[in-house]
Amino acid sequence: MKKLDIPFGRPWIANEDRKAVMDVLKGHILTHGPNCTAFEDEFVAMMGGGSAASTSSCMAALHLSYLHFELGPGDEVIVPAMTHVATVHAVALTGATPVFVDCELQSGNMDLNRIEDAVTPRTRALSVVHFCGIPCAMPDVMRIADRYGLRVIEDCALAVGARYDDRHVGLFGHTGCYSFYPVKHITTGEGGMLVSQYEDVVGAISRFRAFNVDRSHTERTIPGIYDVTGVGMNYRMSEMQAALGRTQIKKIPEIAKRRSKNFRALKEGMLAIEGVSVLDAADDRALNSHYCLIAVLSGDLARRRDDMVRALNERGVGTSIYYPHPVPRLSHYRTKYGYDSALYPSAETISDRSIALPVGPHLTTRDMADMAKAFSAAVSGKTRKPAQKAPGKKPRARKK
Ligand SMILES: *Cc1c(COP(=O)(O)O)cnc(C)c1O
Repeated sequence: MKKLDIPFGRPWIANEDRKAVMDVLKGHILTHGPNCTAFEDEFVAMMGGGSAASTSSCMAALHLSYLHFELGPGDEVIVPAMTHVATVHAVALTGATPVFVDCELQSGNMDLNRIEDAVTPRTRALSVVHFCGIPCAMPDVMRIADRYGLRVIEDCALAVGARYDDRHVGLFGHTGCYSFYPVKHITTGEGGMLVSQYEDVVGAISRFRAFNVDRSHTERTIPGIYDVTGVGMNYRMSEMQAALGRTQIKKIPEIAKRRSKNFRALKEGMLAIEGVSVLDAADDRALNSHYCLIAVLSGDLARRRDDMVRALNERGVGTSIYYPHPVPRLSHYRTKYGYDSALYPSAETISDRSIALPVGPHLTTRDMADMAKAFSAAVSGKTRKPAQKAPGKKPRARKK
């Protein structure tokens, strides 16, 4: 079997992206200017509603959300055990206590049936993550949150294009937070977007994001004169990043099409392999944004997970693990709060028995077929034959 060339993630940067960044550098406004405003407007148009504020990262947008709602010591925030650590760090940095809830095994999303058990009189907010682009059942989440008067912060880092009941995620809760890190759906190098259906929330957070100055450059009648109404941060996006975001956003329809086509092809191939199940949305009310495909292994295969990863990588298939530990099992959190393995059986299953495979726009359905075949071969323990080269002939250079 020939060596494949299937990297896990690859930013899609074309000439128009490079030109947009260079054009900013030909001017004088390098931060917090017209490109940021236009990127925010275009992001809102892409979602089909709401308001938006660009930020320096998704974690900054999450942190701003908790600061805005004045979370602090003594407060509790319900968070999923199965997520990126940034979801939880943003809570912990305010001094509030994260309270972890296990996920369900069909989607990797927080198990909504377990939320109410985690609510106490100190619970102030609920953090939901659309796990690898699979949207949570937001109407149900909001019903529970409303019952206890909780703020809802949506972590949409992997969910550009994900919808529930045809409404874009990020517009159900009080805020939604997006990431433009290089391997996410679109990139600005580093960067994020805070969105909300509540315009006043976005307005207040926009000011907080920029030192809590009461008026921006364009609103000042005398240059240099402004007032400050509270403490604030510098969590802004630069104009170079925003210009890149604006050309990236135009690619979203094509990105969505390729990701969904690749996901369907790979899912079919993977489900034909015994001992493999695939995380996906439960029904067609939820539109998955297909960040990656998570194959969950069972039985004998589950015990061989790390060997499977090695075999796939050797064959040229890039893989990842989403996420390598339930967050409460990470050293910092287990030391601080203790860890009871019995509380997170599904999160542990995904951390310890799954492999994430790529479906990004840099790949084709042909790559999906090759990947499923490589996976099958790894299952049956066939190893790659040494490359058979004609003597004296150089091996074919791999595309980079
Ligand atoms: C990547 C990611 C983040 C962090 O995003 P940054 O923009 O790098 O801060 C947060 N949550 C989830 C679910 C992510 O995948």
